[in-house]
Amino acid sequence: MKKTTVAELRAAFIAGEYTPTEAVEAALAVIKEKDGEIHAFLDVYEDAREAAKAADQLYKEKGKDTPPLLGVPIALKNNILMKGKRTTAASKILENYTAVYDATIVKRLLDAGAIVVGATNMDEFAMGGSTENSAFGPTKNPVDTARVPGGSSGGSAAAVAMGAVPVAIGTDTGGSIRQPASYCGLVGFKPTYGAVSRYGLMAMGSSLDQAGPLTNSVADAELVHDIMTGIDGMDATTITDDTYPAVPLKDTYTFGVPRHFLADGVDAEVLSAFDAHIEALRAAGHTVIDIDLPLFEQGLAAYYIVMPAEVSSNLARYDGIRYGLSVEADDLLGVYEKSRAEGFGKEVKRRILLGTYVLSSGYYDAYYGKAELVRKKMRQELAETFEKVDIILTPTAPTPAFKLGEKEDPLAMYRQDIFTVPVNLAGVPALSFPMGTVAQEGKQLPVGVQYIGPLGGDKRLFSIGKRVYDTNK
Ligand code: GLN
Repeated sequence: MKKTTVAELRAAFIAGEYTPTEAVEAALAVIKEKDGEIHAFLDVYEDAREAAKAADQLYKEKGKDTPPLLGVPIALKNNILMKGKRTTAASKILENYTAVYDATIVKRLLDAGAIVVGATNMDEFAMGGSTENSAFGPTKNPVDTARVPGGSSGGSAAAVAMGAVPVAIGTDTGGSIRQPASYCGLVGFKPTYGAVSRYGLMAMGSSLDQAGPLTNSVADAELVHDIMTGIDGMDATTITDDTYPAVPLKDTYTFGVPRHFLADGVDAEVLSAFDAHIEALRAAGHTVIDIDLPLFEQGLAAYYIVMPAEVSSNLARYDGIRYGLSVEADDLLGVYEKSRAEGFGKEVKRRILLGTYVLSSGYYDAYYGKAELVRKKMRQELAETFEKVDIILTPTAPTPAFKLGEKEDPLAMYRQDIFTVPVNLAGVPALSFPMGTVAQEGKQLPVGVQYIGPLGGDKRLFSIGKRVYDTNK
């Protein structure tokens, strides 16, 4: 399948010019041709052909009176449960785990007619920013195979960027949808916390995690988000349309740029693409002003305390007894120890250790308590800022995609998240889409811009994103 949008596919299906079977065959053919090198997929579902046949028939009978994603091939990050499918979170500890139920979002996507053609690679338990932390080997960036696709939803991004599927679902705890979207030249969306049910997603940081789409257009991201969003009895944190005050749509917006935050560590070429984007916004009649966000700047430090704390608690369930890998030992404690020692990779262990430390008595107040305080104040800072500006604007990541193996120092990897993690701490929505390319070693590498909205402002981001990106693509 050539790189395409859901809107184009759906129109062709309705017109009878193309069929779901052809679309699914095309997806499987691209995977066969390219995935040996790219490794976007951990599993490919040949049984997608059955669903495609049924979809062909339904289009013949009902034409446009069919569900909005009928026959559209999609891919799911492998931390999202789909009944009967192996769901590993790219971890050895879950290498042979089969999901026993559908995640709420999967159920909604299937009800909308989507056809899942495979499960995508990721950083183990979504911990990372390059997909190099997968227990099953890294994914490569289809734009330049010497480089990473970003992470942790790198397999999902690569699956769309290589033209296998027009939509892949990722999860975003600190940027894992937006950063790979930036590195692979795609649209990626992280909803307001609670807009999308987490039931059936393998938890990383429960107060931060949200699922969202990676697509080739903002309109597609909106369509897919609209299908997944909504209150769910299985997730008490899901919100309704009136949980937050209405966020109005406008013809022109005031954008705020935390300029002082961009001074350090952002590539010069990324900054010039960002400045060109700002000029284009001004030319289109929008206002762009500089703002101060001192607490937002503390986001990275607070995130790398709050997130591991939640990780250490969420991953306690993988004990060698209840799920997945179980290594024999002399006694029960030995089973726990050996299963976890063999089953978890280095980055996961690092975060469990860090999280256990910041939660331990004596350190709780010094670290976890402080980080939660920063988080609370950051939310206040953002609420005040959104009284003055409609949208906050940053580059999605400080650099374009880096090379495989380039960031072995975990802190260097964590720094890629400076602009994305504060968004998850605050729970606000953010959209990333391409703002241009930068030349590096003879290749044009995509870079993304991030639009951050107020709580409940998801529709505002889609509306402006469609105008700025889709119409100029
Ligand atoms: N890169 C970030 C991290 O390593 C974000 C991960 C995510 O969003 N799942 O924690």
